Amino acid sequence: MSNFNLRQDIEQRFLRYVQIDTTSNEFSTAVPSTAIQYDLLNLLAAELEDMGAAEVTITDYACVYATIPATVNHDVPVLSFWAHVDTSPAFSGKDVKPQVHRHYDGRPITLPGNPTLTLDPTEFPYLQQKIGEDLVTSDGTTLLGADDKAGVAICMSFGKYLLDHPEIPHGKIRLCFTPDEEIGRGVSNVKLEDVGADIGYTLDGGRLGAIVYETFSADKAVVRIEGVAAHPGYAKGVMVNALHLAGKFVEKLPQDHRTPETTSGTEGFIHVYEMRGTATAVDLYLILRDFERDGLAAHGDLVRDIAAEIQALEPRAKVTVEISAQYRNMRYWLENDMQPVELARQAAKRLGIDVFSSPTRGGTDGSRLTEMGLPTPNLFTGMQNFHGPTEWVSLHDMEKAAELCLNMAQLAAK
Ligand SMILES: [Zn+2]
Repeated sequence: MSNFNLRQDIEQRFLRYVQIDTTSNEFSTAVPSTAIQYDLLNLLAAELEDMGAAEVTITDYACVYATIPATVNHDVPVLSFWAHVDTSPAFSGKDVKPQVHRHYDGRPITLPGNPTLTLDPTEFPYLQQKIGEDLVTSDGTTLLGADDKAGVAICMSFGKYLLDHPEIPHGKIRLCFTPDEEIGRGVSNVKLEDVGADIGYTLDGGRLGAIVYETFSADKAVVRIEGVAAHPGYAKGVMVNALHLAGKFVEKLPQDHRTPETTSGTEGFIHVYEMRGTATAVDLYLILRDFERDGLAAHGDLVRDIAAEIQALEPRAKVTVEISAQYRNMRYWLENDMQPVELARQAAKRLGIDVFSSPTRGGTDGSRLTEMGLPTPNLFTGMQNFHGPTEWVSLHDMEKAAELCLNMAQLAAK
């Protein structure tokens, strides 16, 4: 297959999409969290119609779905490819000015909007592998939004390529564009019956070759400490100060291990991230993360044990712990049927791409989709340094990701 057009199509789409502000907002309860996400969702729906995709829909939960109809008659699993349109609220995504660096020469890249920022290959070694490729950065005043407009452009160009080449044998393909991934609500409203797919793939990963099917399992804990209120002038022997007890609780949490700042690889952690309240009552918010069920349960047990110690220290206070599930390691489901992962691995092999599958220290939309019943590993897009002004991506990696999707579609139809 000739790749020149695919490559050009990806680049043009990507540069267009990143200039549309789609920042999500964790403090909004609306769906999508910011109405501006429709600017891109509506555009994608219109472009999908234009390119001849079937069943193009915008759902009332702000997802865009479209179908690339099958070109073979036999039974083939329906593959779905997912990307999220929002960008992280962690850094500005407004007025993004993408900079294309042709035939990267291996030297540090200075970002014109903020010359104090450089992309230095000694600091970001992946750059050393990208010499000769075309890279895209922002101008340094905003994020780039390759997370996940790289994924959006890859899915769109892949769909367009299949529609332009009906001689390529493949089954039914569903393209799915979602909002609000960055605030963890991307697929919470998705109805799998609207998707109608057997396997999913999110295009939301990093380096060339990453095929990820392991994510954290995640719980959230809220510890509530209620003290006893009294007039401070007449509080002797009566007042129980919830803030003092909250301080003791935090002090008893592990601090030189089992925290985000002391763990890496496959180690889990307990992270206290917010304390809110008064002398009368305090709420402590924690996230618990681990790759294993036992590990996650142990983090929850420790939180409960410390809460019990605080309760024992001051029986007049009331200490309660509420732990709720956030998402689960997709490996629990995928290890029972590795076919979705194997399909991606085989296709990568055919393209000569070295595959690696290191676990993600976070969740993906695929974690939730997998739990809901649609096995959904995560595939590379090439994006690097996401959520900040030094974000960059190689157009070569994006092209490889689109070729990977094309190969998977064909392999699945064999
Ligand atoms: Zn993402």
